[in-house]
Amino acid sequence: MARRLISILAVALFLALPSVAAAQETPEDIVASLNAYWSSVFAQDGLPYSPPSVQAVTGPMNSPCGPIDVFIAPGAYCDANATIYYVPGASVDLGDLWTVLGHEFGHHVLNELGSPGHSLESELTADCLGGAAVRNAVESGLLSPGDAAVGMRLTIGSGDSFQPVNGQVPHGPGNFRSISFSSGYNGGPSACGVGL
Ligand SMILES: [Zn+2]
Repeated sequence: MARRLISILAVALFLALPSVAAAQETPEDIVASLNAYWSSVFAQDGLPYSPPSVQAVTGPMNSPCGPIDVFIAPGAYCDANATIYYVPGASVDLGDLWTVLGHEFGHHVLNELGSPGHSLESELTADCLGGAAVRNAVESGLLSPGDAAVGMRLTIGSGDSFQPVNGQVPHGPGNFRSISFSSGYNGGPSACGVGL
């Protein structure tokens, strides 16, 4: 019941925010905005921040972390080369694109903080950090609350389980993912338990 209430409150907050937004529509724009956001968050804490490399994936390719498969996920992050991979066109809605890139930047933030690796816990933390970045985009007028709600639905809809799925690290069920996303959206990076 409490979780359901949190979700309802989160949706209400989405709807209550102003709807004027000068949308940033290209992945390059969004990457630049996410780098600006996280570099300012790190700077507030006196921490250095290096942007990730960003690679568009248009077919099967390898990374130091193994093969990148465009059919498994619209985005991926490799700690070893600090690179975000994304599939152009896989995220049709702007909110989806912000959410996918926001999540992968969440992994990069963890890597920058010295906590690389993929686990259920780090996936949920990446959702939280993504939520914080999406909220900042809404408050900065870069994304409408409606598009942010679309991204929230993507997080709910792309949940899986607590156990590895086909050898992949689990992201957690959709309601857990959405609670983590909402924590970051409503509370900022300090709600994500990473010391920022
Ligand atoms: Zn992830």
